[in-house]
Amino acid sequence: MARDDAPTAAELLSRQSRCARRITVLGSTGSIGVSTLDLVEFATARNDADLTIEALTANRNLALVVEQAKKFRPRFVALADESLGGELKSALAGEGIETGAGPSAIIEAAARDADWVMAAIVGAAGLMPTLRAAERGAAVALANKECLVCAGDVVSRAVRAAGGMLLPVDSEHNAIFQVYDFQRPNRISRLILTASGGPFRTWSKEQMAVATPAQAVAHPNWSMGAKISVDSATMMNKGLELIEAAHLFPTPHDRIEMLVHPQSVIHSMVEYVDGSVLAQLGTPDMRTPIASCLAWPDRIESPSAKLNFAEVATLTFEAPDPERFPAIRLAREAVAKGGAYPAMLNAANEVAVAEFLSDRLDFNGIPYVVEATLEAADRLNAPHSLGSLAEALEADAAARRLAEAAVAARAA
Ligand code: NAD
Ligand code: MG
Repeated sequence: MARDDAPTAAELLSRQSRCARRITVLGSTGSIGVSTLDLVEFATARNDADLTIEALTANRNLALVVEQAKKFRPRFVALADESLGGELKSALAGEGIETGAGPSAIIEAAARDADWVMAAIVGAAGLMPTLRAAERGAAVALANKECLVCAGDVVSRAVRAAGGMLLPVDSEHNAIFQVYDFQRPNRISRLILTASGGPFRTWSKEQMAVATPAQAVAHPNWSMGAKISVDSATMMNKGLELIEAAHLFPTPHDRIEMLVHPQSVIHSMVEYVDGSVLAQLGTPDMRTPIASCLAWPDRIESPSAKLNFAEVATLTFEAPDPERFPAIRLAREAVAKGGAYPAMLNAANEVAVAEFLSDRLDFNGIPYVVEATLEAADRLNAPHSLGSLAEALEADAAARRLAEAAVAARAA
């Protein structure tokens, strides 16, 4: 809890004349984690920022986290997989770097004294560590959208209570954050979340029925981790982003729209009551939104390619198709019902995506499992408001059980 007279994270960052940060990267071996460290290296080499690393964490990619630790010299490194604790310790013996293993070590990493934390663990597994960083008032660069979907109210309350801040990393939310007038939210008429449409944008339902994991993770514009790539293919990613946006910005969810924009040049837009539409544009490279979060409210250079408008030439737009992409409708229903529903949507989706990636569920089975889980939630009278973290975790666990039953029913 922040003292009343203590400066908030936003005030502390705003006072700096130069980008100086003590950084923790949760999920340092993933797509976002690697891009973050790439940017740290780039900014440091150009003497554009003064960055030190407090902690790095990963699930079980021992080789990469050890390589990162030797290069970036954090004080602490943790792996979520407890069985790798001994190997991690011996790999870093004599380096003067503390190590830890198991889920509690990831939370310990988040609790350590970094003023800027990249939350880039995938899935609801990122909730507890992200919350821990929020509770101590850090500036949290939030890539892990699932934690807001699962427990957005709890995370937002923790940030406010501790005087911390959330810096949205997700490209759409980062775009909106850059052009959103937080002083006058009542003058905003619509948020427009752009979507690439994913690898199956033009596929029929019949084609999607036989889509393989390899086809689903081959995103046309962005290079990302497997889970979010599948979410882009089902368009559940846009559904999760709708819920994420409703937590990050004081605009009601029914004023948040989705628009397919296959070139991924406009990263999202804010429409004001006078008809003005403000957008943020850039090449599809996550190092741009990460750089904007890292330096906020200042700017630093990033290695991302700059936009060449003449080469892009054409920007096109189309309405998303809820018939072929039922995830959009399911996410809208979940956010409208509120309470346990978004957490249950998210958990069911995590189960279904993991089953699809392991070849135990067909692609169209993903929205089927999510829908079956939400229907079961209705029958079980799932709560329409969530008071606590415990209730969010309960909804998550209940949905995982229901989703596993739905996977089994579909396979039978
Ligand atoms: P990824 O799969 O490439 O990396 C995930 C990271 O989390 C890895 O470091 C992994 O070791 C770690 N991890 C996985 N399970 C864990 C567990 N149980 N406990 C602790 N650590 C664990 O994923 P990514 O593509 O980097 O995405 C990370 C998050 O950022 C996701 O929530 C995703 O939706 C969001 N995001 C990613 C992108 C992108 O371009 N990749 C864009 C926007 C948002
Ligand atoms: Mg996004």
